[in-house]
Amino acid sequence: MYDTVIIGAGLSGLSAGIRLAHFDRRVCIVEQHSTIGGLNSFYRLRGRQFDVGLHAVTNFTPKGARRGPLARLLRQLRFRWDDFALVPQIGSTIAFPDVRLRFTNETELLESEIAAKFPDQRDNFRKLVSQLIDYDDLDTELYYQSTRKVLGDVITDPLLCEMLLCPLMWYGNAREQDMDFGQFSIMFRSIFLE
Ligand SMILES: Cc1cc2nc3c(=O)[nH]c(=O)nc-3n(C[C@H](O)[C@H](O)[C@H](O)COP(=O)(O)OP(=O)(O)OC[C@H]3O[C@@H](n4cnc5c(N)ncnc54)[C@H](O)[C@@H]3O)c2cc1C
Repeated sequence: MYDTVIIGAGLSGLSAGIRLAHFDRRVCIVEQHSTIGGLNSFYRLRGRQFDVGLHAVTNFTPKGARRGPLARLLRQLRFRWDDFALVPQIGSTIAFPDVRLRFTNETELLESEIAAKFPDQRDNFRKLVSQLIDYDDLDTELYYQSTRKVLGDVITDPLLCEMLLCPLMWYGNAREQDMDFGQFSIMFRSIFLE
């Protein structure tokens, strides 16, 4: 007999199962596929394992950090930081035909890139960042606002708006042509600030 049956052995089902097992619950995870992992699956070839889903861990924090989603997940699921052979990114670029914006895990680089390529938007970008840091994740009314509207009220150069939206929409957006402001806020913090 099981206390809990979880349908699906993707990362959510596996995480929930591990967590429940830590609290002595008997868990059965049911998976329709022949292997675990869901969207974040892997395959084996000539003795090696290849990941097909995960290519980047956002919200990177260095070993020993106690704050942020990564530290919390490791603590809750009782994994060690070393289990994942994590390395910070060397650098990323948003490359549009005539402008490029580089960014790393240090927010200052993106800010200086914006200051160099969109000088009149530097203060607006700072304003946007402080607005996003103050954004309350639990406010459902704000969540579904149009990001294009909110962003356009602060960043007045349409090209910069597109450049900031591009990686975030590519990475994690369910809407066409626009983005829920709550989702934008989460992705912005993950990709550009953390
Ligand atoms: C190409 C790609 C790259 C990605 N890159 C990243 C990345 O770099 N960083 C990052 O953080 N995230 C990344 N993601 C997103 C991440 O992989 C997913 O958010 C995460 O794996 C979702 O996990 P989940 O458990 O919620 O859902 P899923 O992985 O979809 O798992 C659901 C599971 O339930 C099973 N299932 C469904 N219905 C049934 C049923 N009726 N009976 C039994 N089983 C069922 C499915 O077979 C599946 O195994 C990427 C995704 C893709 C596709």
